[in-house]
Order: sequence, then structure tokens, then C-alpha cells
Amino acid sequence: MVENTQDLQEGEDARPGLALRLRTQIHPLALGAVAALASVPAGVPPWQAAIGYGVFAAGLLFWPTSRRAARKRAEKKAAKSALPDFAIIETLDMPTIVFDRETQIVRQNAAARSLVGAYPERAALSARIRSPVILDLVARVVARGITESVEYSERVPSERWHEVRVAPVATAAEPGKRLFVLTFRDLTEARRMDRMRTDFVANASHELRTPLASLMGFIETMQGPARNDEAARTRFFGIMLEQAQRMARLIDDLLSLSRLEMRAHVAPEGEVDLGRTVTHVVDTLKPMAKDLGVEIALTLPAEPLVVTGDVDELIQVFSNLIENACKYGQTGRRVEVTVADTEAEGAHVTVKDFGPGIAKEHVPRLTERFYRVDVETSRAKKGTGLGLAIVKHILARHRARLVVRSTPGEGSAFTVKFGRAESGSNTKTKELYK
Ligand code: ADP
Repeated sequence: MVENTQDLQEGEDARPGLALRLRTQIHPLALGAVAALASVPAGVPPWQAAIGYGVFAAGLLFWPTSRRAARKRAEKKAAKSALPDFAIIETLDMPTIVFDRETQIVRQNAAARSLVGAYPERAALSARIRSPVILDLVARVVARGITESVEYSERVPSERWHEVRVAPVATAAEPGKRLFVLTFRDLTEARRMDRMRTDFVANASHELRTPLASLMGFIETMQGPARNDEAARTRFFGIMLEQAQRMARLIDDLLSLSRLEMRAHVAPEGEVDLGRTVTHVVDTLKPMAKDLGVEIALTLPAEPLVVTGDVDELIQVFSNLIENACKYGQTGRRVEVTVADTEAEGAHVTVKDFGPGIAKEHVPRLTERFYRVDVETSRAKKGTGLGLAIVKHILARHRARLVVRSTPGEGSAFTVKFGRAESGSNTKTKELYK
């Protein structure tokens, strides 16, 4: 609303004084002067030409109708400059409401309509905004005329935070007709990120603390009561090695995640043959599957299916999904891995198991860091709770999507979709990760 401050000065200058009349009549005055000068060579005596021009100019400047016209023009200009430019607030994506001293709505933009609902014309601000925090702020700013802001949060329908600001508008309008602007700055995303960061540090510390505490316990036992018990020492060393390995896995996964975050905005440029990559992963995991009593069945496309990507990262994705299917779907005893390019799904890799499946409420949260359906099962299966978070980050970088379908009691299918092939066998990944 800086524009209005500027307009205020122009408005004061717009009284219909002589200077203004001179300015508005400058063209006819100049034309008259040219005509008077031209009449001299045509034989009109100069004094007559001068008197004639003087009468013409005085008429133009002091005739009542021309004065009135000039005043009207000046008033129109002043009125226009006192009006805030509502077209501007309509372009803002920040919810913005303009109201007057009586806290009646003068204007709201589309963003405000979708945040608080549409106000009927001249409705009171309190008709939609019920929060005492915001209404108190409005009352204070109307009374004092000084910009102020408060933080406001609501829990229903979903948790949201806003910085609410009320500012008086500087216009040429009389004090009684003063306008005020109420804006909402959305802080929800920033707050959510803050909370995620704090939760993440707390979770990571907790995950590392547990094996560390166990290691320290065993060391103390071996220094004390089990000092001379050879059999106990051998058993304890085995457990200590497991705990140290668990810490190492966790640190590896945390480092993977942070590396991926650093490269999140750089799209991979290599070419990856999906069939060959998945075959390699299946071959590597076969011994583990055999130990678990799970058979992996692989279906490949007739033609090579190539996508743009980073081969090491995609190996990590498929390893995670196939390993999870073998571990958590162990009771199904069979895992089906399919690489295909279809009209409906584009180039994709599906890993299907016939295990216990995943209840509906867990599915949207599986890719959150440290989220597990069952913490003890995950720990027993050497999980860190970070596998699917890593998968999500890698796929986001590849502009690919992970789709999870699961029916409790029947099993789960995790599909990585790379989007439609654009030409030949080279699939360009286009769809954004959701
Ligand atoms: P973890 O290291 O615990 O395996 P992930 O991020 O890979 O972590 O998986 C998160 C959770 O999702 C697992 O703890 C498990 O509860 C669940 N999960 C993943 N894959 C499957 C699957 N195929 N069947 C059932 N549950 C699964």
C-alpha cells in the first residue's frame, strides 16, 4: 500500500488553483498565442493582437465554467488517488482482507475467501473470524493506528499456524473512512519442518542409545560377574557384535539419507536397464531368501527396458523392497518381482508378497523416517525403520512414484512407477513423486 502514501501528496496538490488551471488549459493557451503571433504579419496591429490574446486567455483561465471543469477534474483525480487498488490484493496468494473503522469488510481476495469463507458485502469481520486473539488485534490496531501482528494456531480440521497482521492503510481519506488490511502468513510448513527435525534427532538418538546401552551393560558384566566365565563371555561377544552391527547399519542409513537430501534437486542422468538391475538384485538376495524359506519368482520384459537414473540408487531401492517382502512376507513363502512397461502403468517394477499385509492406517506413513508397523518385529529382522524413507528420497530424485497396495491377510505389492516411455526403449521419467 506504498502507492497510497504517494497518492496522498498528489491529492493535496490537486486543488483548482491558478497553477492547476494553467496546467489544464496549456494547449488552448499555446494555440491562442500562435494564432495571435500569426495575425501580426497578416496585418493586425500588434497591440490589437495582444489585447485579443489577453481577453482569450483570461476567459480560459477565469471563466466560471472552466474553473468548475478544472475543479471537477481535480476532485476526480483526488478521489481516485484516495482509493486503494483492490486489483492488487486480488493478485496476492496471501489471504488478505480490507476492512474499515467499523470493522466491516470492504474487500477480501480469493486466498482469504478460501481460508475464512466468502463474506457478504459490508459484513462484520467477526461474522467469520471468531478467534478472540485476532479480534483483539483488530480492535487494538483500529484504536491506535499502529501495525501489529500475532501468531495464531488452530487444531481443527487440521493443525495450522498463521502469523496474522493488521496494518492501517495510509490514504487521503478522512480519518473516519480509514481502511485497514488484515493478512495471514502461513507458518504451517515451517512449523512442521521444525517438528520433523526435532523428532528426527530424538528418534535417531534413541535408536543409537538402545544398542549402545546394551553394549555398555555387557562390557560391565564381563568386567565384573562374568570375568572368569568363558562360556558367558563367548555368548556376550556374539550379542555385542550384533548390537555394534545394528549401530553401524543405522549410521549407514542415516548417512545415505543425508547424502540423498543434499542431492535431492539434482536429477540423475545415467541410463539404467531395469531388467538387468532387478535380476542382479534378485541374484544377490537369493541366499537370504533361501534362509527365510522364501522363493523369488522374476518376470522380465521381452525387450530391454531402459530408464534415466542412477544404477546404484535403484539397486538400493529394489534391494530394500525385495528384502522387506522376504522378511515381512516370509509366511507367504513366495515373492513375485515383475519388470514391465504397460499402457496403464508405464515402466514399472512390482514386488509382491503373500505375507500378513499392512493395515490401511499404516500405509500412508510407511515412508516416514523410523516408522514401523511393529517396532519389535522390525528390530528382530534387523530393520532400522529407514529403508522406505531412503526409497522415497531416491524415487523423488528420479521423478518416480511408489505405489503401495496391501490387503491384510493376503499380502502387499510395492510398485515403483517410472512414467511413460517417450521413444523407443528409453523411458523418460516425468511424473512427480507423490
Ligand atoms: P525397516 O528397516 O523396519 O524394515 P522400512 O522403512 O523398510 O524399515 O519399513 C518400514 C516398515 O514397513 C517395516 O518396519 C514394516 O513394519 C513395514 N513393511 C515394509 N514392507 C513390508 C511388507 N512387504 N509387508 C509388511 N510390512 C512391511
